[in-house]
Amino acid sequence: MILVAGSANLDFVVRANHIPSPGETVLGRDFKTFPGGKGANQAVASARAGDVSTHMLLALGDDAFAPPIEASLADANVNLHTVRSTNEPTGTAFICVSDDAENAITVAPGANHSLRAEHLPALVGFSHILMQLETPLETVAAYAKAAKAQSVTVALNAAPAQALPAELLRNVDILILNEGELAATTQHQGSIAQCLERIDAPTVVVTLGHRGCCARHLGQIYLQPAFPVDPVDTTAAGDTFCGTLVAALSHGAAMPDALRQASAAGALACTKLGAQSSIPTAQEVATLLAS
Ligand code: ADP
Repeated sequence: MILVAGSANLDFVVRANHIPSPGETVLGRDFKTFPGGKGANQAVASARAGDVSTHMLLALGDDAFAPPIEASLADANVNLHTVRSTNEPTGTAFICVSDDAENAITVAPGANHSLRAEHLPALVGFSHILMQLETPLETVAAYAKAAKAQSVTVALNAAPAQALPAELLRNVDILILNEGELAATTQHQGSIAQCLERIDAPTVVVTLGHRGCCARHLGQIYLQPAFPVDPVDTTAAGDTFCGTLVAALSHGAAMPDALRQASAAGALACTKLGAQSSIPTAQEVATLLAS
């Protein structure tokens, strides 16, 4: 059983010819709202991977933005542990996507920042906890410490990029990050191999977009090429990778198999628009793996 503890947002997405410069107003089109947030996306990916039951601890406001988020998670069979903030709105993200597929994003974390150490549910029965950095760092550190003390495997996706306190890193078993986050976490500009050496966690997985991923797991290095796809929208590829990887490991997969499953799921997430709407099912991943 997996507990994803993290952020949930409602994404407000508008397409425009170009992203407005400071002071400029542009006329957009195709406005849509999508449930998003790294935590919620990863919970959906873990649940869609099947085989293991996925729970999510999240904080939402008492407003009209919360129900679509809860509905999307419930639809994916994620069991919810919701903290209801009465003084903060539900987290939102305002995203402008230009015709040349650039985007500009402003996140208002709102209720996500009200997640506190005391909100952690009892961890009995959970094999893994999966977190990101869109909730307060001290909360992430407190959950990692509590989970580690109860022999629950701690997985952290160190995104968005920031330097990690050594005390938090000591309690992380599986660190997952992209190249930019690797540089920020290690505060080092060296090669990936050099950065990997500097991180003192038993398992470190670095995702490299269309170039695939590599991992250092219990002293061994693994390389997994990406599955070739024609990308339409790479939003949530990283979140899909993280949720699928932890679900596979929790189900008992060996590291190379878990990396393959996560890479296939990440590639498929690039082939559809949106965040949670683009996350593939276990069947779709199995079909790609068998092709
Ligand atoms: P993030 O979104 O966190 O930066 P990445 O872009 O590294 O994460 O993507 C995570 C994983 O998703 C990659 O390791 C790869 O397996 C898969 N992926 C991402 N982009 C592509 C792509 N264009 N083609 C195939 N697979 C991709």
